[in-house]
Amino acid sequence: MLEEAEARKRVLSSVSPGPISWVPLELAGGLILGQEVVGLVDSPAFDNSSMDGYAVKAAEAETGATLLVDAAEQPAGRDLGWLLESGKAIRIFTGAPIPTDADAVIMQEDVDRDGDWIKIKEGVVSGENIRRRGGDVCAGQLLLKPGTELGPAQLGLIASQGCPEVPVHLRPMVEIVTTGNELVEPGAPLLAGEIYNSNGPMLKAAAERLGAVAATRHGIDDPVALRETISASIEAADIVVIAGGVSVGDHDYVKDVLTELGITTDFWRVRVKPGKPFVFGSGERGPLVFGVPGNPVSALVTFQLFVAPAIRKRLGYESENREFADRIEVTALEEISNRGDRPHYLRGIRDREGVRLSGTQQSHAIFGLARANCLIRLEPEQVVEPGDLVSVLPI
Ligand code: AMP
Ligand code: MG
Repeated sequence: MLEEAEARKRVLSSVSPGPISWVPLELAGGLILGQEVVGLVDSPAFDNSSMDGYAVKAAEAETGATLLVDAAEQPAGRDLGWLLESGKAIRIFTGAPIPTDADAVIMQEDVDRDGDWIKIKEGVVSGENIRRRGGDVCAGQLLLKPGTELGPAQLGLIASQGCPEVPVHLRPMVEIVTTGNELVEPGAPLLAGEIYNSNGPMLKAAAERLGAVAATRHGIDDPVALRETISASIEAADIVVIAGGVSVGDHDYVKDVLTELGITTDFWRVRVKPGKPFVFGSGERGPLVFGVPGNPVSALVTFQLFVAPAIRKRLGYESENREFADRIEVTALEEISNRGDRPHYLRGIRDREGVRLSGTQQSHAIFGLARANCLIRLEPEQVVEPGDLVSVLPI
């Protein structure tokens, strides 16, 4: 059985960041920059006013002075090309270009207006209330490095440079294949012995939350039909996640089907709980294939531990092992123990005080999973007393 860290390393070494393509800014939120972004233009592009007020020559705008307000006015927008003459002021508004020969803007609150005249209540110095050309960004300057996540501010910056598109790693296509004759889609009636398919919506949402495009398919426990289903997913996707049917039961056909489809199993079974069974493989040129346990809790936890890092790397994130970086030490609020011989990820609820278990820990118990906001990692035989620190992975 493979150690958890080694398994994740093997997965990550099989993944490369997805292809880079230019996409419109409106579609790029949350994606990862594939190339550096360099400033194309100075920003601001021209000297402009940071206030609503009057463009003046600072030397003439001392406290107590009066200035004639020219009929000229410069709102934000097209530069009207005004020239400021001595003894005068030009009405100006925030963002408007500074008239020639003006060297300061006096705030409208700092003058008394009387017809065509203003009386300066509070003088200004040269340059005051003027945002200088290139004061924020200079053309040619490195603005964003590859690997940067494009949040609102980064997209705003790129738009301010006049670029309608940005080079990003494309979202991977993830197919979730659920398996099992007992499964019925929510909304349909259940016969005795049947259960609803919770892994489909759950794992699809988990992939989408990371930034992938995801779809679901369902395969029945029949080797021929299952081969067709999985084969279609392999054709369609960059990453295929098969839930259930990967164990050693008589109706667990996934491993055989993968072999028939030319997918080489890199490993199955990881020394972690849950993590047995867990299959990871890939084809010659085809997608990565993961097989996760059918029990919903195990399915989501193994997805977090091994599939999520692969999706993130494919999306272009530079820190491959955020899963480790995100780990934090939290005070246990109750006794938590692992009597087993594998590291165990338990579902926990963490608040400002510390962390406690989120109810029953059995691998079908999805209610506790839905209340959990973290996984608590315990080493084999580890017993944590209230007040002890314990390693926690937020989910
Ligand atoms: P398996 O890994 O196929 O042996 O399934 C293990 C357990 O998980 C069985 O009790 C299945 O009924 C259950 N299971 C498998 N797939 C799903 C699913 N999509 N939704 C809910 N339970 C499932
Ligand atoms: Mg099954």
